[in-house]
Amino acid sequence: MGEGQGSGPSYSLVLSLGGTVRGWSKQSLPADRGRRGVVAAGRLCASMRTVRVAPPSHLEVEIGTFCNRRCPWCPNGWSERGQRHDRMPERIWRALLRDLRATRFEGTFAFHNYNEPLADPSLLGRVRQARRAMPHARLSIFTNGDLLDRPMLDRLVRAGVDEMRVTLYPPARRAFEPPDATVIARLLRRLRIGRKGLQVDKERRIERRLRVGRALLVIKVPRIESYCDRAGSVALAQLASRRRRRAGCLYPYLSAAIDFRGNLKLCCHVYETSRPEDRPYVVGNVGETPFSELWASARLDRLRARLARADFRGLPACARCTHRMRPWMIREAKRRRQG
Ligand code: SF4
Ligand code: SF4
Repeated sequence: MGEGQGSGPSYSLVLSLGGTVRGWSKQSLPADRGRRGVVAAGRLCASMRTVRVAPPSHLEVEIGTFCNRRCPWCPNGWSERGQRHDRMPERIWRALLRDLRATRFEGTFAFHNYNEPLADPSLLGRVRQARRAMPHARLSIFTNGDLLDRPMLDRLVRAGVDEMRVTLYPPARRAFEPPDATVIARLLRRLRIGRKGLQVDKERRIERRLRVGRALLVIKVPRIESYCDRAGSVALAQLASRRRRRAGCLYPYLSAAIDFRGNLKLCCHVYETSRPEDRPYVVGNVGETPFSELWASARLDRLRARLARADFRGLPACARCTHRMRPWMIREAKRRRQG
């Protein structure tokens, strides 16, 4: 029995005859993990192997590439990619929403990976579409806050956003100084919010939480030294990984990231998926195969199992990755690993 088994419901993809995804079911399943086929028109469709894994608790979708900043602790600081205005094609966006609607996705859905969502003119429309497709998901905007003002905040909340997460980054020259929490009060004044909220000093950031209407506003002042080098895409000496990773990784049980091309990546740290050397980190494209099928695919399950036992052969970025899962993330990932 895997760790954490029994602490939560089992999930499986429910597929109709012909293989159409109908949703996730919470139930106990027979112990034939990885061997389940789909009866399609009376025959076993061996290519449609699915595995038992809960849907991700966090799904982030890069609706475009542009960010107005070039932070040195981010891959955008070391590449021109973030200066481009590439957008996720409508066909791929709609295919993704169709699948999330069909499978009744209920986790956190965020509109970023390496882009600044508030700089994307399609954001409000896509928030509304996402709200309609996923009435029970937690819609979340992660932003650097530069373009956030009170009217924009109110429009996003009205459109259906549940949570605004604003990270107030330090200037590059003060990246490794202790976080300056006075910037939180400045942002609250700019947003014309009088309430102070609850502030907590955490290991990785100072964080203030308060409610704005029906939404939660989380303002973070990060400790940059707690960041990783994003699977080798950040060349900042202070964040560089110096030795081979020994610890296994459970992150792909917990969290999913899709780039603007529609590529489901092994994790959010993978930056660019167009280079041949990045192919091992791409699970598939959600414009061609439904996200839920990719998430429950035997290919991703094999990768997860290898990462969990720290087998990084053929995955050089993982072999040097310094990302450290916090205890709650490990508990949650184990809960989601069903086998
Ligand atoms: S850390 Fe955020 S704000 Fe900075 S460049 Fe990256 S995506 Fe943009
Ligand atoms: S080892 Fe690092 S890069 Fe690889 S999947 Fe885990 S968090 Fe992502």
